[in-house]
Parts: sequence; structure tokens; C-alpha cells
Amino acid sequence: MNKDSVMQMLSGAGAIIVDSHIVYTSGRHGSAYVNKDSLYLHTGTTSELCKLMASKYDADKIDVVVGPTVGGVVLSQWVAHHLNAKRSSGETLSIYAEKEGEGEDKKMDIKRGYDLCIPNKNVLVVEDVLTTGGSAKKVIETVRALGGNVIALSVLCNRGNVSDKDVADTKIDALTTVNLESWPEEACPLCEKKMPINTSVGKGKAFLEKRGAVV
Ligand SMILES: [Zn+2]
Repeated sequence: MNKDSVMQMLSGAGAIIVDSHIVYTSGRHGSAYVNKDSLYLHTGTTSELCKLMASKYDADKIDVVVGPTVGGVVLSQWVAHHLNAKRSSGETLSIYAEKEGEGEDKKMDIKRGYDLCIPNKNVLVVEDVLTTGGSAKKVIETVRALGGNVIALSVLCNRGNVSDKDVADTKIDALTTVNLESWPEEACPLCEKKMPINTSVGKGKAFLEKRGAVV
């Protein structure tokens, strides 16, 4: 399975849109959009992608999979499921971390007794889309503070050119990377080509409405 097939699966599920004309929340324009929420509607594709994530590791050496709420809960379950299918004995557990606090004080807590699964265990951290890597980094820090050994950070998509350094020096395994190059409206090559703006995702609809009101 190569990165093109992964992209096909993600775009088939509507999770990645490419070759379009998108208006981002920032107001900048670009050609690609990542909509992870639409992936989780499709259990077959989600399972297949998580099987690929799991395939990179020696299942017998992963004790626990953990992901941050909300998407990471789904991924943690499916990745652990596929690791268990590969194990020769024992069991890989699936847990999740929850957001606590806001802004600078935001943490990723492991509660509900799941924290007891971490000390001295090999832990695989999973995340759907890395934009800045902030949430994943907090999960990694929490796992280490609890005495867990983080094996790697496995992600569906790295869209922010996040490096190992950005996530507390953890090895990142990404199924795919998406280059979200963007431009200010006045310098947008797609506007210049008069390519129609995508009104289904991002802020395209509001952008056209506003422009219509001005004209
Ligand atoms: Zn444009």
C-alpha cells in the first residue's frame, strides 16, 4: 500500500479534498482541505487505514494504544484491534486522553483508571491529523510523566510539516502528508484562473456571499 492508495482512500471518504479552490478560516486561499470528521462515518475505510497504521509495528511489543479525544478514540480502538489480530499472545489495550483546561493551561489527561495501564509499558500514540502537533505532544508528555515508554506517534496525515522535534522528540509515522500551501486572496493563482470556489467546505460560501454583497 503506497501513499497514493492512502490518499485515494482518504479522498474516497471525503476526508481529503485536493485540486479544489478553498477559502480557509484564516481568509487565505488554497487548493486542498482536510476534513477528518467525514472519515469516521465510514467504518470500513477507517478500519483499513488503522490496519495500515498498525502494520508498521511489532504487535507483541505494543502494550497500549492511546489517542486524544475525539478522533483519537476511534483510531486507538481500531489500531489496537488490528495489533491484537497480529499478536502471538497477550493483549494490546486501547485507551484515550481527554482535554483538561483551556489555552496555555490545556493538558491531555489520562483518567478513568486508564492511567494505571501506562507505567513501564510500551505505548503507541495515535492522532488523525497533525496541524501543529500540539495535542499529540501533550498526550506524549502525559504518558511519559506516568512512566510509559512512547514507541512512536502514528498519524493518518501530517498536514503541517510537523517534525519529530515538535512532538517532544518522538518518531512520527505518517500514512500521508498534505501540503496545504495557501495564498492571500489578492495573490491567489486559482482566483486569477477564475476557478470556481468550493462552497461545501471551509469559508467559501461566506466569502462569495460577502463578495456578492460588496459588488
Ligand atoms: Zn482564490
